[in-house]
Amino acid sequence: MKTQLNLLALNEWGIDHTDRPLLISGPCSAETEKQVLETAHALKDQNISVFRAGIWKPRTRPNTFEGVGSEGLKWLTKVRQETGLKVATEVANAKHTYEALKHNIDVLWIGARTAVNPFAVQEIADVLQGVDIPVLVKNPINPDLELWIGALERINKAGITKLGAIHRGFSSYGDSAFRNAPNWQIPIELKRRFPELIIVNDPSHIGGKRSLIAEISQKAMDLDFDGLMVEVHPDPDNAWSDAAQQLNPFQFDELIKSLIIRSKGSTKQTHSRLSELRKKIDHFDHELMELLEARMKVAGEIGEFKRDNNMVVLQNNRWNEVIEQSITLGNTKGLSPDLISKIFKAIHQESINRQTDIINKITV
Ligand code: PEP
Ligand code: MN
Repeated sequence: MKTQLNLLALNEWGIDHTDRPLLISGPCSAETEKQVLETAHALKDQNISVFRAGIWKPRTRPNTFEGVGSEGLKWLTKVRQETGLKVATEVANAKHTYEALKHNIDVLWIGARTAVNPFAVQEIADVLQGVDIPVLVKNPINPDLELWIGALERINKAGITKLGAIHRGFSSYGDSAFRNAPNWQIPIELKRRFPELIIVNDPSHIGGKRSLIAEISQKAMDLDFDGLMVEVHPDPDNAWSDAAQQLNPFQFDELIKSLIIRSKGSTKQTHSRLSELRKKIDHFDHELMELLEARMKVAGEIGEFKRDNNMVVLQNNRWNEVIEQSITLGNTKGLSPDLISKIFKAIHQESINRQTDIINKITV
């Protein structure tokens, strides 16, 4: 389903922000008034535009810290008074949204565990009807782009045009280097579908540990994300939630200084070089397409042969041989086994689909 979002450019959001990236930072959770104010004062001279802190915390397991609740909203108001920073918090239901609006919170975000649930998102959208406030929607925990878009649409339909997305990675089962797999192709596709949509990367929840934050942030900048949301705590190891992934204000400063922000555009000269190279890419893509067409034709002929000789489609030995020889050949050409295996699995699946169609086609 093709849709449009009605979006306002970032420079019309009423948030001070000069150069890329838009920085949103602050603790995972507001714990005490002292901790919130101390973090905000440490961050206020670090070029951040928005101070974040979670008040209502959706925790995976019960009997863990679930946030200080509405009390913390007063601390955020104090942050704004004392530092001039805009303040943001997460809302997960209609009650949170009413409370946050009542306390004049400047920016709201919808968390990953809420974005999965259209009822919850709609309930928040209904409260936001007619309100002028920036809202950021995190990706749902499962890698479902349509669900993410659906949540953005619901908020947008309520009249929120200061709308952005936060990429915080996706849950997966089993061990992985990341807490939440980035699946970069999903935010890239979101950007392709909605080029005007502000997309912020959240390296803290993707990485899950401090050591990964810099490389994820740099990658996000190289993929032209508009901003970063980074969790910062004055004493990360003793944080009441997400201790392993929070940076202290000094580490945050180092992170921001280490980022290389590359230009979006190009000069005339580099542009003509880039178009030449892109023409070459187009040419190779065209050739790949012709080769795939020819390969599928042969796969079809094999399907006819199998049908006429009453053979099963999947010949496991042959498939093993194909994948193994392709990986070996790919290796000699500097192509990673991962790439080759993904490409050949996709091609093989397509061949199998065609062949099962052929052998099952009723011919008269
Ligand atoms: C958070 O930002 O602290 C949070 C709870 O994030 P997420 O919704 O991405 O899990
Ligand atoms: Mn967190």
